Amino acid sequence: MSQDSGRYSRQILFPGIGAAGQSAIRSATVGLVGLGALGSGIADLLVRAGVGRLRAVDRDYVDLSNLHRQGLYTESDARERLPKAVAAGRRLALLDPEVEVEARVADLRPENAEDLLGDCDLILDGTDGFETRYLINDLAVKRGLPWIYGACVAAQGMTANILPGDTPCLACLFPDPPPPGTGDTCDTAGIIGPAASLIASLQVTEALKILVGDRKALRRGLLSIELWPYRAVELGGRSARPRADCRVCGERHFDFLEGDRWSRTVTLCGRDSVQVLPRDPGQVDLGALAARLAGQGDIRHNDFLLVFASQEVEITVFRDGRAIVKGCTDGAEARRLYQRYVGA
Ligand SMILES: [Zn+2]
Repeated sequence: MSQDSGRYSRQILFPGIGAAGQSAIRSATVGLVGLGALGSGIADLLVRAGVGRLRAVDRDYVDLSNLHRQGLYTESDARERLPKAVAAGRRLALLDPEVEVEARVADLRPENAEDLLGDCDLILDGTDGFETRYLINDLAVKRGLPWIYGACVAAQGMTANILPGDTPCLACLFPDPPPPGTGDTCDTAGIIGPAASLIASLQVTEALKILVGDRKALRRGLLSIELWPYRAVELGGRSARPRADCRVCGERHFDFLEGDRWSRTVTLCGRDSVQVLPRDPGQVDLGALAARLAGQGDIRHNDFLLVFASQEVEITVFRDGRAIVKGCTDGAEARRLYQRYVGA
């Protein structure tokens, strides 16, 4: 028996997987959006399960306040302020070198969604915002790709398997995103690690069923779990079907993928921060920016990002021109600060 089959032997022994299932898992390309609490758990489990290729996308950097629930990261990642995709890529490479991990420091957007996810066999949601989820939903429905919705806040979470044409899509379940500021977030309600681990585990279990082709074993409804106190309900259950009048999977209007409903600033969950996107995407020369800002505040930079801190603000600028403005939850104010210190 080769070392490789020894690695997965207990998983192959499980009748739901078997040798054929393991080889299907090995030949799959899985996309993962977000490497926070859900994404950390998902990436760890998928890589250990021996998926062929994992393409993971994240726009954020590691912060000390992430460590209680984001198992891929260490204190030194937070001290160095590494982008999550970089820290996760390094960590995941240590788990199973046979798995091809493509970790990208990027913000999933209408312009790059097809490039980043279009060739995946399955997409997993580790995001913290509805806008990005509707974008994933548009892409997945348009291309007929399965994806697995997941969300978590406080001690509760939700997940659903979205199989275009077969089960309800995200827009069938929630026709419109909740208005900004109306839902609980990790900022307002906090979050406990086990809730995120549980939802991530449920997502990966369903992912394995999809990858081995056991669709009959899949959950069809929207599962909602409250852990503290405990309560679980599944909406729709086995009879869940797409809505005929659904804007996305019924009428095939892909407003998020086409950019019509896309905003240029977004409040980040768990951060008291706003992300600002550059008007014209391109590479920023971080050394030149550091020189320009010299004397106006503290500046630190590594190969991936620059952190500028003054009395007024702390801004983290990535090489692609995106910035995270800390200590601010207002989009217009964040954009003003971006223009003032980063430009354009
Ligand atoms: Zn739908």
